[in-house]
Amino acid sequence: MTDPDCIFCKIARGELGTEFVAEGEHSVAFRDLDPKSPTHVLVVPRRHIRSLQELPLDDPGLAADLLRLCADVARREGIEASGYRVLSNDGADAGQTVFHLHFHVMGGHRLSAGLG
Ligand code: AMP
Repeated sequence: MTDPDCIFCKIARGELGTEFVAEGEHSVAFRDLDPKSPTHVLVVPRRHIRSLQELPLDDPGLAADLLRLCADVARREGIEASGYRVLSNDGADAGQTVFHLHFHVMGGHRLSAGLG
């Protein structure tokens, strides 16, 4: 369920004392260590899932919990009206560096138009 060597598993278990911005039943949200926008929060499942491709299809509650928490973070951070971006890097071409599924919730300024 969790990987003892995974940094996001440790954070999700509360082992590193990281402050949570918000919590869901199956997921937690915390600030990115190296923020790329004024608001930059990561939403991760409590259990170890390597990437979006490994999100279990037989557990729709988990996917819903993750997306609900992304929206909840935007509300708590006060960027729900100004706008924000939710993205997940999956694999090498996308530049994934931490292999525990996470959604970046980014906003607080005008985000670049390009996605490619
Ligand atoms: P990605 O490149 O999509 O895999 O995103 C990984 C993100 O995790 C990067 O934006 C890092 O800055 C962030 N990150 C790595 N380690 C930590 C940590 N200990 N606490 C918070 N954010 C982290």
